[in-house]
Amino acid sequence: FKNAPPSVRELWLSTAAYGDRDYLVYDQDRLTYAQAHAQVNAIAAWLFEQGVKPGDRVAIAMRNYPEWLLIYWACVSTGVAAVGMNAWWVTDEMEYALQDSAPKVIFADAERLARILERPSMTGGAKVVAVRTEAPTGVIPYAEVIAGGGAMPEVSVDPDADACIFYTSGTTGVPKGAQLTHRGCIANLLNMGFSAQVQGLAVAKATGVAPNPAAAPIPAGLLTTPLFHVTANNCGAYATTAAGGKLVLMYRWDAGEALRLIKREKITAMSGVPTMARELINHPDFETTDTSSLMTLGGGGAQLPPDLVGKIDGQVKTARPNTGYGMTETSGIITAVSADFFVDKPESCGPAMPSFEVKCVDDDGETVPPGQVGELWVKGAPVIKGYINRPEATAESITDGWLHTGDVARIDEDGFIFIVDRKKDMVLRGGENVYCAEVEAAIFRHPSVAEATVFGAPDERLGEEVGAAVVLRPGMELTADELRDHLGGLLARHKIPRYIWFLNDPLPRNASGKFLKRQLRETLKPEAAA
Ligand code: ATP
Ligand code: MG
Repeated sequence: FKNAPPSVRELWLSTAAYGDRDYLVYDQDRLTYAQAHAQVNAIAAWLFEQGVKPGDRVAIAMRNYPEWLLIYWACVSTGVAAVGMNAWWVTDEMEYALQDSAPKVIFADAERLARILERPSMTGGAKVVAVRTEAPTGVIPYAEVIAGGGAMPEVSVDPDADACIFYTSGTTGVPKGAQLTHRGCIANLLNMGFSAQVQGLAVAKATGVAPNPAAAPIPAGLLTTPLFHVTANNCGAYATTAAGGKLVLMYRWDAGEALRLIKREKITAMSGVPTMARELINHPDFETTDTSSLMTLGGGGAQLPPDLVGKIDGQVKTARPNTGYGMTETSGIITAVSADFFVDKPESCGPAMPSFEVKCVDDDGETVPPGQVGELWVKGAPVIKGYINRPEATAESITDGWLHTGDVARIDEDGFIFIVDRKKDMVLRGGENVYCAEVEAAIFRHPSVAEATVFGAPDERLGEEVGAAVVLRPGMELTADELRDHLGGLLARHKIPRYIWFLNDPLPRNASGKFLKRQLRETLKPEAAA
């Protein structure tokens, strides 16, 4: 990759060439690349005036406003590590992360600012900037930050310095602050380019509209997940920005609003978690909305249930299905797959991207034979440096450059990876392991099911039993026995859920859209199951 920028600074600076093209769209606000650059320069100049230096940290505690990305680019372009604060965190969690990451400046929107004011000691003396809300005494208004209109400071950024600190989703425990390097973020971008190329060629071949991928339209990406995680930031935002595309932001996920935006902004790609693609095509307005600009639809961050691959291909006429598998600790994607490659193997999340070596290992760290199941270990430039303030967790997770993903997988003869479960999520039912994703995929094949998640429910006899929480589509009826009958044709007997809970409300999820299995395990009692 001869033309790859050495650090994210060069990447961002190169996008000034996109000048008057639309860059960020949020509600009624629209910013061109030129306007975004002017604001990013002003933020960076202001940070340096305040004494912030390369190597320092600056926290962003906000929803997906345009300013989120402007502050992010200002930081990474000057070697300052941007700390992505999870906007869902309550006061205690915010305090934990601020103490952990010790930023020099905190940019906060209304809700986050209220939490800080509730417990001012949590800032550790950092300056606080109020974004899109009034600044009370002692807090700096964002307007003041950009008022100076300064120039981008001249600094040279070390490719191995931290570009940002992103916290893991906290699905399996306390979120850990991962150190993503400039080199890693750029390597992930190149992997994204590789995956888009595969997708571009496949779309061109299938539709005949763009026989030359270079003639593909300027991308318009709809960001549906929070920018403080790698899916929206390092994958969605980086790829669209590098290509001079337009990014459309949403305050919160809403399928009806997403449909309106797809039509209004001629969205070409929507990134998100798999449940969002399902909600989109299940939405009552879906049939009547013009979604013909969509070239691809799918999602990652959790397994895209295989039934959805076919549904996307069949129902969203212009868009081909896609997915990716990745984690905070790899600055983005490890695998990606789309179009015919995905339709042919809908249970796979695709092959490893060029910058990775991958292997599946047994409990002793020995590589298992091809096709056999083991923990997936990956090595390559996108792997993080480590977790801040957690030398032990870092040493446990990364050995000789190999990141232990904590995911159980198998790799087939074509190099396609199949994630079977998280190590921590497998249901250990007596002597038999049951993989949640397999059971979930079978449940989703029932047409009445809207949402489902499978987890281990405590059981005296077997240690754990298979439990399933299920939400039905509006107006549908289904009994536990009918569901078990359906599963009987698809799964071995021991995998069929002993406990099934039919819930009326959407299943609880975290900010990454992942089901909170731990919470369900604790709150759903066997007595209430069907
Ligand atoms: P924590 O590490 O704090 O428990 P988390 O693992 O959910 O939270 P992330 O880094 O956001 O935090 O998520 C990465 C994990 O998400 C992966 O290790 C994997 O378990 C899951 N995942 C991501 N993409 C996919 C996919 N396409 N298929 C299956 N699982 C996926
Ligand atoms: Mg994890």
